[in-house]
Amino acid sequence: MTKTDHEKALVVFSGGLDSAVALFWAKKRYKTVETISFDYGQKHALELECAAVLAEKAEVSHRTVKSAISVETGLTARNQQVTDARSAFVPGRNLLFLVLSAQVAYVEGFKAVVTGFGAIEPGALGYPDTRPERVGPFCSALDLGINEEATVEYRHPFASYTKAQVVREAAALDCLDELQWTHTCFKGQYPPCGTCPACKLRADGFYWVGRQDPLLDPNNERSKKGPFLLKKGQKRGPTSKKSG
Ligand SMILES: [Zn+2]
Repeated sequence: MTKTDHEKALVVFSGGLDSAVALFWAKKRYKTVETISFDYGQKHALELECAAVLAEKAEVSHRTVKSAISVETGLTARNQQVTDARSAFVPGRNLLFLVLSAQVAYVEGFKAVVTGFGAIEPGALGYPDTRPERVGPFCSALDLGINEEATVEYRHPFASYTKAQVVREAAALDCLDELQWTHTCFKGQYPPCGTCPACKLRADGFYWVGRQDPLLDPNNERSKKGPFLLKKGQKRGPTSKKSG
């Protein structure tokens, strides 16, 4: 595996477990890695805080881009609860993020856009706009619409992985401990609720690999910070400082 000077990757970064592991996957392969997160009005701003903090820990430059979503769902509406994967589904959200990332990649000369899409479990979350067989054609359309020379590659390294395989990959990349800075819980809680579908799926992943989730370790570094990771007034926006 070689890294070359001109190879620059942009990681679509939610602050969740899969995209966090994708970040460390990209760091192994690309000379320069940056992360991009999207503030689409999600109730759980904690995931954006996690993204900003984890990018800093990983010593990569990070930006948060404001992005409008034209409908209200359990993830954005204050009067709607997230009770299952369906109520957490924001139609087309990840496709929109790919478009916005492709714009940045084109304008700023990124070689690759990397996502953590995948982690498919039978009967589990499996949002259609992260399924590899559907995202692939969409990325081809992006090339046609934005960049006919197809100089940007779209990488989804965990496209066919289960959650356990993503956790195993994290262990192989030696970034398990950093996963304490990720956010998964549908209820937006820290410590996580442990009972929502997202928490359960994550727990299953660690269980099958036989590793403890560092997020749940009461003695982890994060637990000393409390539920809020950023200091009052600290920006997580596009002006986030460049840390690497
Ligand atoms: Zn939960």
